[in-house]
Amino acid sequence: MKPDTESKSAKAGDTPRMNSVVIVGGGTSGWMSAAAIARIAPPNASVTLVESDEVGVIGVGEATIPPLIEFNEFLGLKENDILRECQGTFKLGIEFVDWLNIGERYFHPFGFYGRDTPEFAFHQLWLRLKALSDEGKTPSDLPGDINQYNLCAVAAGLGRFSPPQGGGEAILSTMRYAYHLDSKRYGQMLRRYAEQRGVRRVEGLVESVQQNPDHGTIQSVTLRSGEVLAGDLFIDCSGFKSLLIEGAMGSGFVDWSHYLPCDRALALPTAGIGPTKPFTRATADVAGWRWRIPLQERQGNGYVYSSAFAEEDDVHRRLVQGVDGEALADPLPLRFRTGHRRAFWEKNCVAIGLAGGFIEPLESTSIHLAQVGIQRLINLWPGRGCNSAEIAHYNKAMTADYERLRDFIVLHYNATQREDTPFWRYVGNMEIPETLAAKLEMFRGSGRIIASPEDLFTPHSWLAVMLGQGVRPRSYDALVDRVPEDTLIQNMRLLKQAVAKTAAALPPHEDYIRRRCATQ
Ligand SMILES: Cc1cc2nc3c(=O)[nH]c(=O)nc-3n(C[C@H](O)[C@H](O)[C@H](O)COP(=O)(O)OP(=O)(O)OC[C@H]3O[C@@H](n4cnc5c(N)ncnc54)[C@H](O)[C@@H]3O)c2cc1C
Repeated sequence: MKPDTESKSAKAGDTPRMNSVVIVGGGTSGWMSAAAIARIAPPNASVTLVESDEVGVIGVGEATIPPLIEFNEFLGLKENDILRECQGTFKLGIEFVDWLNIGERYFHPFGFYGRDTPEFAFHQLWLRLKALSDEGKTPSDLPGDINQYNLCAVAAGLGRFSPPQGGGEAILSTMRYAYHLDSKRYGQMLRRYAEQRGVRRVEGLVESVQQNPDHGTIQSVTLRSGEVLAGDLFIDCSGFKSLLIEGAMGSGFVDWSHYLPCDRALALPTAGIGPTKPFTRATADVAGWRWRIPLQERQGNGYVYSSAFAEEDDVHRRLVQGVDGEALADPLPLRFRTGHRRAFWEKNCVAIGLAGGFIEPLESTSIHLAQVGIQRLINLWPGRGCNSAEIAHYNKAMTADYERLRDFIVLHYNATQREDTPFWRYVGNMEIPETLAAKLEMFRGSGRIIASPEDLFTPHSWLAVMLGQGVRPRSYDALVDRVPEDTLIQNMRLLKQAVAKTAAALPPHEDYIRRRCATQ
């Protein structure tokens, strides 16, 4: 994980040193927090995690995005061990089915399209070639779908996988990947890691929170057993309950359900069938969408929907009808609200994971947002207090992450051409955030993508989803006209051929797993 240099430069704390940490909640977020803190905590620090079997964990969350690799490396965990233990498979991107129109599909790959130059992005060359093709000035095989220039997309289509290899010029260096994994097992793996490094786990139900009557900081939490856990810093990982940040601190909630009306899900595991695919599938449905996530021995499935537009019975029926393989349990109903806490960090309480906020799982970003929260926290901590400027910086940065991500997810819905149900008519015509409208306007002009170095999703991801959702630039960046036409045609053809050849030479995903990280 990279240090947050801006925070490092802030001056040291107004609040006392924080050597004793209490984490409330032992879901994926709780154990990720505990493991990361155990990794960097000074010897005199004490870390306690309290969780309740009575409440349990949410237990869904099987698809991830590439930065989780950095988190595991930071902990020193080996990829093959994680995948073996968590029934993991590799994920090269997401296949979106029926999002633009029924019967159409597109792929959002993690990897890069061609190679960008300092002057212009690769897709500008593709846009120009497309313009030439519209004028009948290119051979019939060019330009072809832009995903033919993306190794992740081509490999995913062939069911093949390899991690990136080689430097700069190698096509294989453009691969990027993440994992599908059993998040409960991942949490348990992190629990072992944290306990081995001194984190104390307490089983019990938190019943009350004690705050300093003068300035409101949390002093302790009391369990039903009567045990009192006192600390300097409290991390709220209590999931949607938000026991500390909302229950005690009353942080408030920024509600985005008008942009993202899905508020329910049904989750259903099924037995695995056939070779595991190296990608997630998200299929749009009448009032939301269905996910399919392949693990080594089973498949995670679910239906995310809006209760304003669908009845649970209908969703249940459509989910069961839509899955491949035998159901391994009854569908599990889940409720959520899209948005985030007004403050992720208040006084000596930081919310990580679902306690801090939730954006529906369309791009598998929830575990990542927990990771980002932890990363920022440990860049400010441990061994000293944090002043109000640092806390404000943390809240501003987290809010910006959530907002950028919200825009990306809203894009998938709003750019639909579907009009077949009230749900799709609503999302296709709803008001969208100004920041997203500006991004779309810029792209529609000459294909330029507004990007920030802090973006969770690269311009390549925005490109994949904008083109996939039918957003078309009227023109391209005039700078690419400097490339002679015949050079452009020749280079694009060579690149397309090289991508196809490289992908075809990769091992089948199934074989790669069997040789390196099969669950025993
Ligand atoms: C439908 C759906 C699909 C999802 N899919 C994905 C996905 O594909 N990828 C992804 O990254 N994320 C996904 N998520 C989000 C993901 O599930 C969560 O980010 C992840 O599981 C972390 O949850 P958590 O640890 O914050 O909360 P939880 O798992 O809910 O854990 C809360 C913890 O708090 C404890 N607790 C609560 N109250 C008390 C109390 N009073 N006393 C003591 N302990 C208490 C519980 O025992 C538990 O240990 C999905 C979420 C939903 C709803």
